[in-house]
Amino acid sequence: MDTQNKRDYYEVLGVEKNASAEEIKKSYRKLAMKYHPDRNPGDKSAEEKFKEINEAYEVLSTPEKKSLYDQYGFAGVDPNFNPNAGAGFGGGFGGFGGFGDLGDIFGDFFGGGASSSARRNGPAKGQNVVSEIEISFEDAAFGCEREITYSRIETCNTCHGTGAKEGSRPETCSYCGGRGTVRTQQNFMGMTMQSTQPCPKCGGAGTIIKDPCTVCKGKGKVRRTKTIKAKIPAGIDDGQSFRIRDEGSAGSNGGPNGDLLVTVTVRKHPIFTRDGANVLCQMPVSFSQAALGASIEVPTLDGKVRYQIPEGTQTGTTFRLRGKGIPYVGYKTRGDQFVTVVVETPTKLTREQKELLKKLESSISDEAQPKRKSFFDKLMG
Ligand SMILES: [Zn+2]
Ligand SMILES: [Zn+2]
Repeated sequence: MDTQNKRDYYEVLGVEKNASAEEIKKSYRKLAMKYHPDRNPGDKSAEEKFKEINEAYEVLSTPEKKSLYDQYGFAGVDPNFNPNAGAGFGGGFGGFGGFGDLGDIFGDFFGGGASSSARRNGPAKGQNVVSEIEISFEDAAFGCEREITYSRIETCNTCHGTGAKEGSRPETCSYCGGRGTVRTQQNFMGMTMQSTQPCPKCGGAGTIIKDPCTVCKGKGKVRRTKTIKAKIPAGIDDGQSFRIRDEGSAGSNGGPNGDLLVTVTVRKHPIFTRDGANVLCQMPVSFSQAALGASIEVPTLDGKVRYQIPEGTQTGTTFRLRGKGIPYVGYKTRGDQFVTVVVETPTKLTREQKELLKKLESSISDEAQPKRKSFFDKLMG
């Protein structure tokens, strides 16, 4: 993807610069859904859009990357972005060639960790990639297998990652002798500071590509859409994510791939809600069932079970069904199901039924309804 022609990430996601994380997520989901390759089979422009959306979201959903992007634009977030590559010195960034350079400068000023220029030519792990899936309540409880389609950066097949056109090879940079770094002096707040900078001529690569690969435009990497089958772990909850090692973007200089981080959205269940590994539900019972006790049928994740509610059960009483909840992630042990009884007051009674209830009401003593009695006792002082 040509950096010059790239659209602003905020524009890609159709949000304002000051959009909240929630707004960015919402907009991403909507667009990702619309342009998802599964919904637009064979549509190349939709696939390109999908990639673009994912790239933008990858950056804007990661606080560190977002702040680098806000400050430095694409140069702040794209490890492959190098305005000097193949064009000699003269990029408008005055040394801010890319992500690594920022690390150097901030590292030198603030005494931060190892200078990243030292790692420039060494193996570096690829970036992690984020994706999202939506699954049912039951699938979240018991685990499932799903195809996940996402976009990641892969090594260019045409040049095998060298960035050089077929038949040519990158040449060793004469300016830095292939080291990729040069020592420079900088003035900062009246002090002269020595620092190691990425070579301005080769941008730190140590090599110069005279004839860039036409597929990846010399980057050695391309963004591609990939689909994998993934096992969703049993017990995963809404908003949680799991990691699939090695399925992220390609590493550099022989470094390993990044990981794929999949965030799960769990669809609402018509009757169950969830509190950790426990399942909660409300169970309507009739007035007479509550008063007389009854064997009721309770839905669980394993199907219906019978439960005996005792005589005189009050509305709001919660019963526990042990082991009928959701497995703890990585374990066989399951949480419990909590069933809250809700007494349903009968409506649309016939005249005859009303008469029966009136008879019943007058025959029930205060002692049989102690709550009601104590309520009025309190009122009387
Ligand atoms: Zn290539
Ligand atoms: Zn160089």
